[in-house]
Amino acid sequence: MTRIAVRDLVPGRAPGRPGSCLVALALALACSDATEKGTPTRVETSSPLSVYVVNHPLEYFTQRIGGGHVDVVFPAPADVDPAFWMPPPETIAAYQKADLIIENGAGYARWIGQASLPRGSRVDTSAGFKDRLIQLEDATTHGHGPSGEHSHGATAFTIWLDPTLATLQARAIAEALVARRPDAEPDFRAGLAGLEADLAALDRQWAAALAPLADDPLLFSHPVYQYLARRYGLEGRSLHWEPGVVPDDRAWSAFDRLHAEAPARILLFEGEPHPRVRDRLSAMGIRTILFEPAGNRPAELDWLATMHSNVERLAPAETLGESH
Ligand SMILES: [Zn+2]
Repeated sequence: MTRIAVRDLVPGRAPGRPGSCLVALALALACSDATEKGTPTRVETSSPLSVYVVNHPLEYFTQRIGGGHVDVVFPAPADVDPAFWMPPPETIAAYQKADLIIENGAGYARWIGQASLPRGSRVDTSAGFKDRLIQLEDATTHGHGPSGEHSHGATAFTIWLDPTLATLQARAIAEALVARRPDAEPDFRAGLAGLEADLAALDRQWAAALAPLADDPLLFSHPVYQYLARRYGLEGRSLHWEPGVVPDDRAWSAFDRLHAEAPARILLFEGEPHPRVRDRLSAMGIRTILFEPAGNRPAELDWLATMHSNVERLAPAETLGESH
């Protein structure tokens, strides 16, 4: 009722009577405060919120925070890179109907900028720390198997490979959920606290495991490790190789030049390399190690377990008794 009363007062704010102006202003301020608390977009039913996400890390975070209050949907097929995937029209229509659309930002899932999605549903989880996003100097275009060529754009997007930034993304999700379901806030806060503790533990594990590599140059199979490298002080140069694909002679020549500049002994691969690639690199004294960003769902483990397993593979070859 207050809102109606204030709206009725608004035309009366102009007659040039300072006193009534102040009263109207005070009421307007009180009103905006009340409006914020009673978020108009709030969903009143107790059925789970329909939440659509653009990648697997955000799916995992939202599930951990939202629990039974959310119905999280990540509709990308298993064989696509969600960063470059173009959903079919019916899937975009499903995103449009969702209560919340959880986005990665940083140019991830470019279709989002082209589709018309309800502004009120959209949550850009990296909007709060744009100053910490990594701008790419050389935007690269290259082929990705059956899906054809793609460009990596101007901003590095694998934000979640810095667990401290993943934490900020998780907090943005939690705030969006609280705004929609204030009554469930204690549950969301508890879910967030558990996730934050796990991300902090992951950060400690990665720091300890990656510290010995800080003095050695690394090679990356694909330009997706920028946030990891920055967080843990790694010196890395990136190839544009696809897992499972054997590079042609030209690509090997380019590799030799890069390796001459950065004589790395470890090459991180985002997916299992082709055995012939692994063997050829192994003959050059270079270990290939699977380090999955897991933008899409990993085959077996959940996101957090996949992240832990990434650095477990980094243990020195002599400790593992094998070179993988
Ligand atoms: Zn690429």
